Amino acid sequence: MKPRILIVYTGGTIGMIEDPATKALRPFDFSHLMENVPKVKMLDYKIDNIQFHPPIDSSDMSPAHWQDIARSIADNYDDYDGFVVLHGTDTMAYTASALSFMLEGLDKPVIITGSQLPIGEVRTDGEENLITALQIAAATDTDGRPMVREVAILFENYLWRGNRSTKRSADNFNAFKSNNYPQLAKIGLGIHFDTDALMRRSVSRPLTPHYGLDTSVMVIDLYPGLNEGLLRHMLAAPGIKGIVLRTYGTGNAPTSSWFIEAIREVINRGVIVLNVTQCLNGGVLNRYLAGDMLAATGVISGYDLTFEAAITKMMFLFGLGISREEVKKQLCMSLAGEMTLTQ
Ligand code: ASP
Repeated sequence: MKPRILIVYTGGTIGMIEDPATKALRPFDFSHLMENVPKVKMLDYKIDNIQFHPPIDSSDMSPAHWQDIARSIADNYDDYDGFVVLHGTDTMAYTASALSFMLEGLDKPVIITGSQLPIGEVRTDGEENLITALQIAAATDTDGRPMVREVAILFENYLWRGNRSTKRSADNFNAFKSNNYPQLAKIGLGIHFDTDALMRRSVSRPLTPHYGLDTSVMVIDLYPGLNEGLLRHMLAAPGIKGIVLRTYGTGNAPTSSWFIEAIREVINRGVIVLNVTQCLNGGVLNRYLAGDMLAATGVISGYDLTFEAAITKMMFLFGLGISREEVKKQLCMSLAGEMTLTQ
């Protein structure tokens, strides 16, 4: 039987082609995929697609769009072997992270890709990324089970776990990287999967999609010079339930009493504060007094979570409507392979 793949086209650079008459770039109509990317025919797959109307630049992506993507996958889950999401690169890592939490029990590939150059340009990386993403979505192991059973980002030479990825280059074809987790596959002459890195759940559960997302969350990025007035102003934001605090190094923050007091007060008000590092590599360890004092306020360690995974995980957990204690508990657990807990 031919592999059955559903493409969800949301927009981004990959979908752009040059209008032959005006030479302007315009979004491509994926209902004409085969005519525009003839090489796809060589794959001999059954491919269907769902498109966003209109396709969007991923800077306009919102939780409502994540719900649409998750719904497109969940509603068609049994009819396809794999899913390819075409998406702009700018917020791809946020979408990948959000979907990894929303699609609980995912046992099939959801491969997100895009490109740096429009698919209609001669030197495009889009055609190669699209074809490789389709091949990965169709790949099976020796038992005939999907090789990839998680949300992943395919870009140029690598397949990364979605909720571990970050956009690292606005220019390079290898635009993504997962700094704290190995690649799931290396793409060269062939596609070489790393079966130790790929998600393998011991118990398989049915897909249980969650669509609730609560955006009452915000980020505070530390920098030398952040003053008390400004910090207190941000912490007083009405309706805030969770804050991702981006700290220095291994989770360090100023030791000044005004800073520690302000954080303690917001936590006592019931706000959950999650500590992630500004460093690209490594995580929160609390090796210094500066980290210990912060931890003593009740701040939760996000270990080696990316910022993208931290903020979407908070939106997801608050969206579940569970108790504050349960949110805190789940923030310390790895729900979809998003963090390493053995530090
Ligand atoms: N601004 C575009 C987007 O994120 C860039 C891209 O697709 O790479 O939609």
